[in-house]
Amino acid sequence: MDSRRLLAELRLDRANPGAAFGDAVEVPGAGHFSTENPADGAVLAEIGRASVYDYDHVIAAATAAAARLRAVPAPVRGELVRRIAMRLRERKELLATLVSLEVGKIRSEGAGEIQEMMDIADFAVGLARQFGGRTLASERPSHRLYEQWHPLGVAGVITAFNFPAAVWAWNAFIAVVCGNAVVWKPSPKAPLVALAVHRIAAAEAAAAGLPGIFGLLLSDEPVLGQRMAADARIALLSFTGSSAVGRTVAQTVAARFGRSLLECSGNNAVIVAPDADLALVTPAVLFGAVGTAGQRCTSTRRLIVHESLFEPLLARLGHAYARVRIGDPLDPATLLGPLIDAHARDLYRSAVGQVCASGGEIVFGGRHLDGPGYFVQPTLVRARPEWPVVQRETFAPILYAMPYRELDEAITINNAVEQGLSSSIFTRDIASAEAFVAAAGSDCGIANVNCGTSGAEIGAAFGGEKATGGGREAGSDAWKAYMRRQAVTINWGRELPLAQGVQFDIQP
Ligand code: NAD
Repeated sequence: MDSRRLLAELRLDRANPGAAFGDAVEVPGAGHFSTENPADGAVLAEIGRASVYDYDHVIAAATAAAARLRAVPAPVRGELVRRIAMRLRERKELLATLVSLEVGKIRSEGAGEIQEMMDIADFAVGLARQFGGRTLASERPSHRLYEQWHPLGVAGVITAFNFPAAVWAWNAFIAVVCGNAVVWKPSPKAPLVALAVHRIAAAEAAAAGLPGIFGLLLSDEPVLGQRMAADARIALLSFTGSSAVGRTVAQTVAARFGRSLLECSGNNAVIVAPDADLALVTPAVLFGAVGTAGQRCTSTRRLIVHESLFEPLLARLGHAYARVRIGDPLDPATLLGPLIDAHARDLYRSAVGQVCASGGEIVFGGRHLDGPGYFVQPTLVRARPEWPVVQRETFAPILYAMPYRELDEAITINNAVEQGLSSSIFTRDIASAEAFVAAAGSDCGIANVNCGTSGAEIGAAFGGEKATGGGREAGSDAWKAYMRRQAVTINWGRELPLAQGVQFDIQP
């Protein structure tokens, strides 16, 4: 399907609004910005730019909707999420194609993005019937002591360009079953995906008699995100993006005693132990470093290889890199689509320049492709762990390879960066695997054995430490971030005993 027909099918071919809220209310915004196809640089559509005036309407509508939603039983909120997921399932192919068109993900990764939305919806629907609190033993007779969980109110969700739909779903579906309204400010690099997804969710909410629980703000200016961070009406602000922006968001939210949930940058490493099975390592590293054009927070950026395998593995990877098909993300044979924009390509070129200036030796790649679109070669470089360029996250398919001798040294290299998101070891040795996941092992939020750093599934809580921000989403008990905990003591007796045996009687 060509892009014009796709946009028409999704009703994205007319004047696109800047904000949406309430009972399917869409407003034009003040001014416009454009979104482009990174594979050819062509403008896909003009998008209204939400004004600060629109912002107040969206937040007011969400605040009112949150007050209604908290009275709705959680399983009924789950039913709404189930219905949204049914609509997503029907439109999976169209939405997946739109993801490829707007952010350049290859076909199967575009489909994976929408699949992930449905997976988290399944999780959220089940969760909606499982919220519980602990009942604890009270030290006082005839007292009941328990904890319960309440909705927070409005949850703000700011998302990055590279997961333009799934990360919203991770947050929104859990937030809604927890009883919160959700206001989404997506990346200005993927507004069409956000609009298409928002319309599905908003229509189902309105049909369920719950209009306004989903709000949308589209803008290419930072001011609305900054407002969200400073706005005390937003009880929780979930931010996904770079550590640099996440740091300012976290500080602003903290200054008003708000809650933030941060999913920021990664600088993920794979350790290849001397007994590793290279038949597993090669595809895992290829997907981790080259998949999504190196534009995942969990992309493999550093390869720490035992010296005995260093040259053989680099030879294998060089051979695999040479066979990677670069091109149109909608062509099923393509493995490497474009970077998101010209700025991303400039950052790639700058990183390659810096690593070469430091003494790095390029094993494969190192060049961008001429012509329309923002394509670069998958790039493999011999590097040193301490070089500043290696310590940074460059959002591009560049992999820095370095040798090690002892496992302790490899783990030290793994941990010696600011970020702490994902990590892997390839080994058949149980002691090495256990050392890697032990307390003195990887300091990351995600530690994998014999699988790569990239491609987490719904279920376990996802997130990372240090400059990655400490947030957890998409599984386990991460739902607790979207609720407030209340400790309740009920005295059903006829006495008033005080805790800790304190006496406070008025003497007769
Ligand atoms: P970015 O930091 O440039 O932008 C992220 C979002 O923040 C966008 O919606 C942007 O409009 C908004 N924003 C920009 N300035 C703001 C401000 N001052 N206040 C509030 N919001 C503001 O990131 P990006 O380039 O879109 O995405 C790439 C980054 O995201 C990478 O660092 C990647 O590792 C990270 N990421 C992390 C995860 C994770 O789960 N840890 C997932 C995806 C992406």
